[in-house]
Amino acid sequence: MRLATVLHQGRRRVGRVVGSEIELFACDGTRGVLELIGRDPLPPVEARVPLDPKALLAPIPQPRRNLWCVGRNYHAHAKELNDSVFKNHKPEGWPIVFTKVPETVVGPNDAVRLPGAAITAQIDYEAELAIVIGRGGRNIAAADALQHVWGWTIVNDVTARDVQMRHSQWDLGKSFDTFCPMGPWVVTADELDGTDTRVRCWVNGDLRQDARTTDLIYDIPTLIETCSRGITLLPGDVIATGTPAGVGMGLNPPRWLAHGDVVRIEIDGIGVLENRFTEETSA
Ligand code: MG
Repeated sequence: MRLATVLHQGRRRVGRVVGSEIELFACDGTRGVLELIGRDPLPPVEARVPLDPKALLAPIPQPRRNLWCVGRNYHAHAKELNDSVFKNHKPEGWPIVFTKVPETVVGPNDAVRLPGAAITAQIDYEAELAIVIGRGGRNIAAADALQHVWGWTIVNDVTARDVQMRHSQWDLGKSFDTFCPMGPWVVTADELDGTDTRVRCWVNGDLRQDARTTDLIYDIPTLIETCSRGITLLPGDVIATGTPAGVGMGLNPPRWLAHGDVVRIEIDGIGVLENRFTEETSA
């Protein structure tokens, strides 16, 4: 199932996308698809209406807490960065994990706002498959981890590289307002094998990233096991699994995003997430 959050008649609603229509559920849509996690059966269908792509919101418009994110997790991406900014980095046997604040999340129809040259001059995209946790848990074994996946979505882990590199922790450079486009919906775990799907990203129509999730250094069960070591994962937690090679920082010379650029991400089995980048227009 494709479960989406939409703006319908001025209200946030959740529903199931079926072809070119959406079946709106008879339930509160304020929290987006978080409302649906753990509900079996799903709420009754209240109305079936044409799906307006312009009405799509982030499936989880405000996650209940920070999003988990994994750094440098594709073999080819780790190599491109070792050849540039992370010279002499030695893998230490553990994934790099950082977070983005919930307020970074915007939807498929929102712009990503560039914070301005006084704050950052190096904005980059990162196309990523994101896990949405269904059943929470602590100390989840890798062998059991996929049973805790409720579904999959797409995020763009937008990053201010100069700010990321300035601080040894990455959260600041990853957490500017609007720096986590999410969508277009969540595809439930029964319909997609996220451990083997294709992730692509275009900037203004130019293909920059193209990889399969089989190239992950730390696979999805390992990421869930790692994030739940001594920490209780909650239903609705989001884990962004890392980005493939081809980010702007990895190009020679690097290429940064600017006002008017459009970043399009497609993940096979999920769909397309496309966002425009714009200069801040107000404080
Ligand atoms: Mg990332």
